[in-house]
Amino acid sequence: MAKKNSSTQSDEFEYLIKTLPEGVIIVDHSGMIVFSNKKARDILNPGGGDIPFKTFNYKISVTKVTEIELHRPKQSPQVLEIRAAEIDWLDQPAYLITLVDISESKRSESAFKKSQEKIALLFEANPDCVMLTYLDGGEVIDVNDGFVKLSGYQKEEVLDRKTTDFNLWADISDREDYIQRLSTTGECIDYEVQLVTKDGWVMPVNISARVLELDEQLITLAIIRDISQYKNSERALQRANEKLSVWIDELEMRNREASLLNEMGDMLQSCLSLEEAYKVVGKYAEQLFAGQAGALYIYNQERKALLKKNDWGEVVNSSEEFEPEDCWAIRRGHAHEMIGNKNTLLCNHITQTDERDGFIQNICIPLIAQGDTLGSIYLQLQPGQDIEHWKQLGVSLAERAALDFANQRLRYKLHQQSIRDPLTGLFNRRYMEETLHREIRRAVRHGSLLSIAMIDVDHFKLFNDKFGHEIGDQVLKEMSLYLQHNLRVEDVVCRFGGEEFIVILPDASLEDTERRALQWKETIKKIHVGHYDQAMDSITISVGVATFPKHGDSVDTLLRAVDDALYAAKDAGRDSVKIAKPSKNNAAE
Ligand code: GH3
Ligand code: MG
Ligand code: MG
Repeated sequence: MAKKNSSTQSDEFEYLIKTLPEGVIIVDHSGMIVFSNKKARDILNPGGGDIPFKTFNYKISVTKVTEIELHRPKQSPQVLEIRAAEIDWLDQPAYLITLVDISESKRSESAFKKSQEKIALLFEANPDCVMLTYLDGGEVIDVNDGFVKLSGYQKEEVLDRKTTDFNLWADISDREDYIQRLSTTGECIDYEVQLVTKDGWVMPVNISARVLELDEQLITLAIIRDISQYKNSERALQRANEKLSVWIDELEMRNREASLLNEMGDMLQSCLSLEEAYKVVGKYAEQLFAGQAGALYIYNQERKALLKKNDWGEVVNSSEEFEPEDCWAIRRGHAHEMIGNKNTLLCNHITQTDERDGFIQNICIPLIAQGDTLGSIYLQLQPGQDIEHWKQLGVSLAERAALDFANQRLRYKLHQQSIRDPLTGLFNRRYMEETLHREIRRAVRHGSLLSIAMIDVDHFKLFNDKFGHEIGDQVLKEMSLYLQHNLRVEDVVCRFGGEEFIVILPDASLEDTERRALQWKETIKKIHVGHYDQAMDSITISVGVATFPKHGDSVDTLLRAVDDALYAAKDAGRDSVKIAKPSKNNAAE
């Protein structure tokens, strides 16, 4: 204390120098360090002790601040900030040098610089589009190259401008929703919206953004990805899926149609008559042509007209019957499409066109088998239907049905041939016997009546001899026609052989049968064939009648009884009707 009180100005100055927070050294004109304060020694020799070098060999400037780097083995470089001033030291020119160790601040400055470079690199080199905007106003703070590539805008065109000012959002309400999400949760991840590029292209993008704080302001860091390709492939995938499902539906439909057609084929083969087969076709057509209308037409026996045998759908605009000339398909021998309005060339059997819009879609398909046209299928489609599809299906149905109808007709013909007599068209003896068996069983089952009559032309040999065999044949045909037309539906008339006939009369009593036989006998006398000017003996017949079970309880006994009765009629002089004698079993009655 005593020293301080008595200190000179020079002492004060030395004290100041010593305690300065900066290192101070004085270097004389030869570079020798002639003074150093404690701080300078600490800086230049951090290990403690004196300064390790006597001269100061670093370039210094008195006009500006110099930085020097000191390198020591196994130590990180030391950076010193040096200021120098020329002074007089003990009347000699010298330099006053101040040293500040700025290594630490240099190191953090360089770390900061490096991290800034890293951030800049991340921002710029990011292949995605990165955008910094203010949360509130939406002004652009910065964008990277990715943004330029994605949007077509140059950086200068968008900096400091609001995204709404350059119409970045295709739908402004998307931006409001986006800002709302950011404001409430601080982030908005995988947000799919549409942005508009500089040249007006609306681009689907995916935005992931986060709110950050910079200089006490809330900013948004957004990464934007162009997903148009992904969207395109998504759309392509969706289209492919839709196409696939259409194909699958179509395939399923075709399968269903094919199995229905097969099922129809099976059913048709089990049909016992053509009428049954027509019903089967109608039933399957209703399922195959669901939602559409149509009808099945078949030629009548005389082949002068086609008759509607079946129809399907709600309203069928086609007549019940038409002549072959009224249908283009029948005339042309293949399917005929009628598409369009009233001016379309329509078949004459079509009675009405759709009045709602006057548009029609109709197809007529002929039923042809083995070169023979059997009828036609009429299809009446709803507007907008795929006509080609229905036509193909119609043709398939027509082919199947026609073939089966032809087979059925052939079977029917063969069967008829096997049970009919070719001259008269009446049932033959074989069929008569089968029928008689069946009718006897029925009469037993129901306890009903059953009678039979046997007719034989009198002296027919003589008639033939006199008028010729042909006239004789014509007489037999006329007789057959007469009998067919004068019997009840349930009666069956057969040619038993030569000029003999048998009539089976279910539910007829013996008396009724006798009465009817007498009628036949009288009417048949009037039969006249050949030219009327040609004289011809009148035909007489003899008839035996018998009834079940009185005259016989089996086919054999009943036939024998009626044959006996016929002989009795012949014996009685012909042109007469005789009743059989009761059988032995019934003789007592
Ligand atoms: P009746 O029965 O009265 O005793 O004398 P009938 O001359 O009719 O009897 P018969 O049994 O002697 O001769 C049957 C004749 O019927 C012989 C044959 O010329 C004739 N006849 C049989 N079948 C046919 C035929 O298909 N056509 C023709 N034209 N004649 C037939
Ligand atoms: Mg005879
Ligand atoms: Mg005879």
